[in-house]
Amino acid sequence: MERYQVDKNGFFGRFGGAYVPEILYKCVHELQDAYLPILESEEFKEAYRQLLRDYVGRPSPLYYAPRMSELYGCRLYLKREDLNHTGAHKINNTVGQILMAKRMGKTRIIAETGAGQHGVATATVCALMNMQCEVFMGKTDVERQHTNVERMRMLGATVHPVTTGNMTLSDACSEAIRDWCCHPRDTYYLVGSTMGPHPYPDIVARLQSIISEEIHWQLQEKEGRDYPDCLIACVGGGSNAAGTIYHYIDDERVRIVLAEAGGHGIDTHHTAATIHCGTEGIIHGARSLVMQTADGQIEEAFTISAGLDYPGIGPMHADLAERGREEVLAINDDEAIRAGYELTRMEGIIPAIESAHALAALRHLNFRPDEVVVLTVSGRGDKDVQTYLNNKDMAGEYGQF
Ligand SMILES: *Cc1c(COP(=O)(O)O)cnc(C)c1O
Repeated sequence: MERYQVDKNGFFGRFGGAYVPEILYKCVHELQDAYLPILESEEFKEAYRQLLRDYVGRPSPLYYAPRMSELYGCRLYLKREDLNHTGAHKINNTVGQILMAKRMGKTRIIAETGAGQHGVATATVCALMNMQCEVFMGKTDVERQHTNVERMRMLGATVHPVTTGNMTLSDACSEAIRDWCCHPRDTYYLVGSTMGPHPYPDIVARLQSIISEEIHWQLQEKEGRDYPDCLIACVGGGSNAAGTIYHYIDDERVRIVLAEAGGHGIDTHHTAATIHCGTEGIIHGARSLVMQTADGQIEEAFTISAGLDYPGIGPMHADLAERGREEVLAINDDEAIRAGYELTRMEGIIPAIESAHALAALRHLNFRPDEVVVLTVSGRGDKDVQTYLNNKDMAGEYGQF
């Protein structure tokens, strides 16, 4: 059987492709031709692996969570991406793409960011490699996520507040693409998730696949078998989910459950649950599911979690969800807050609110006691402490303090 992967035109089923303005054809094609030879070269692999080990701090632990296991009646392992340098999985991708940009002779890096996590991860590797870094961020987000803006500036990046549209992530993406059109020669667009025109979804999935590669040998060591019964991850654009499932997509023994952000609920207009509520359309260079009005205007996403606040979804997940290979749950704000408090109290780990959506999925599932479940904690919650405190009333029994 052939391995599930992107086809030569950049499609996953009918989703994906590269829908870009003519002026970008050349740089997108240049990247399409360059990325596999670079990613598969021994020289790249060695440099990438060394940075993952010595700079990012990999392998990230696979932690058996005893109290949560007992509570949910299974053998629950947490894949600790929260322990990476800069506090999330995003650095796995930026470390890889900055090496790629260097090999392609690019000197200027641009990136979009919503919450600022991808902006920080990009500014970090630009400082490391001494590259010029320009980050596009919606003005609303610049105000909401001020600490991350200061971190990026401290790291030497220029942050451009974007004042078009809703002034959030989706507008920042559009502005980054516009900038790329003006500087196609020297500029590398460092995309932060499994989205954008082909080959970005494939590049980011491959760079994040280190997560499931490690789960393989870590489970072999701990459980005597190299696969779990169930994988769980949260999904915004889809990169930590893609990395978590990458080496298990074709393994039918493994159930895949993803949590997207329901916001106030999928029956309200305040939601970011694109797989539940989106319809087919083009967003930021790819055909996928999009939250849009009947006449094709992109609608604003809504969720308590800045990192999941995107009105699109990576094309790979649009396809895998449609095929039924992924089960997708919409987790509302209050469920995520409660689950974040629960992990904090049960295991002493404050998760990012994004990751708390994955944790909240546990309550929706039934397990056999010997079932092995691996859940990716995509990031740490330091950035979210104020949000957790402001929403203590959603934390149920854990909010009494
Ligand atoms: C950005 C972010 C996400 C969402 O992005 P994906 O590409 O879907 O992984 C999830 N968790 C954390 C901690 C993030 O920073």
